[in-house]
Amino acid sequence: MTETQFTPRVFSGIQPSGNLHLGNYLGALKRFVDMQQPDMETIYCMVDLHAITVWQDPKELAHSTRELCAGFIAAGLDPDKSILFNQSQVPEHAQLAWIFNCVARMGWMQRMTQWKDKAGKNQQNASLGLFAYPSLMAADILTYHATHVPVGDDQKQHLELTRDIAIKFNHDYGVDFFPITEPVIEGAATRVMSLRDGSKKMSKSDPSDMSRINMTDDADTIAKKIRKAKTDPDALPSEIDGLEDRPEARNLVNIYAALSDQTVEQVLADVGGKQFGEFKPMLAELAVEKLSPISSEMARLMGEEAEIDRILGKGAEKARAIAAPILQQTYEIVGMVSSKQG
Ligand code: ATP
Ligand code: MG
Repeated sequence: MTETQFTPRVFSGIQPSGNLHLGNYLGALKRFVDMQQPDMETIYCMVDLHAITVWQDPKELAHSTRELCAGFIAAGLDPDKSILFNQSQVPEHAQLAWIFNCVARMGWMQRMTQWKDKAGKNQQNASLGLFAYPSLMAADILTYHATHVPVGDDQKQHLELTRDIAIKFNHDYGVDFFPITEPVIEGAATRVMSLRDGSKKMSKSDPSDMSRINMTDDADTIAKKIRKAKTDPDALPSEIDGLEDRPEARNLVNIYAALSDQTVEQVLADVGGKQFGEFKPMLAELAVEKLSPISSEMARLMGEEAEIDRILGKGAEKARAIAAPILQQTYEIVGMVSSKQG
């Protein structure tokens, strides 16, 4: 096998399953924006095919896809610098996922914690798509030969599986075709926790709206949710060690650090010794200051539906121009006869 150099290329996605929240912003979207650099090709996707692995009302799905696109742009992604599109419009994702369904093993999928968490006790009644989700995610990434994938901590296992699929494909077919992708899980808030329960991650699908800060929440709602966030009775420590076994305190400090672009150490040096009664209003003020411009820009963009659809359409064209030749080469490696081969 010969060593191939892959051009650095960033890919990531977010599901249009409603309620884009602070965890999505700090763990993913804000970092998508950081990686949008002149020397880096960045591809960001609204993964609607993933969203329908659990039931989505069709009208809401369409609304959420456009709203997510508005969120991407409002947060700082520029359609002239990054490729922005929705997954279903680039059929290569689903086509490559089928090939990967035949590479991945049942045992690999059964070990996935997201599958176990989302299917719960009723696995027999979960969709086949929910089970196969990680294989589609591997295809999302590898159909662009992406080398770097910014995600939150909860996606680490799926990225390991993406690497396993690439390694097995390359090995089985004796090629060095798919890159071994690097997860990029960085920053102070790689796992933002629920405001109601420091042991659960903040999530779109949590039934309690008080558990998360939505990107569309107004200033009063943000302040109320932070005021009511679960905490403990102690003052904040001055050192990181003092956050051990205090998941709710750690969560709020992590959020403060990520929103203010500081390290947790820097934040604690400032706020150590303060009670939550004093710290929570500081956090609320910071959150409103950072999130309000994004939510108002999102609302403005949502008034321009035709413009959003135009951006998505153009993005899908650009994405396809990269994905289609990679899928075609994959088919050739696998031995599929193409009429185009003559
Ligand atoms: P769902 O509950 O429907 O799975 P979600 O909130 O987990 O929704 P996804 O669309 O699955 O959102 O994830 C999009 C990105 O946001 C991923 O990179 C994921 O790792 C990141 N992310 C999701 N939740 C958090 C969180 N609480 N903290 C940090 N990053 C997160
Ligand atoms: Mg998720």
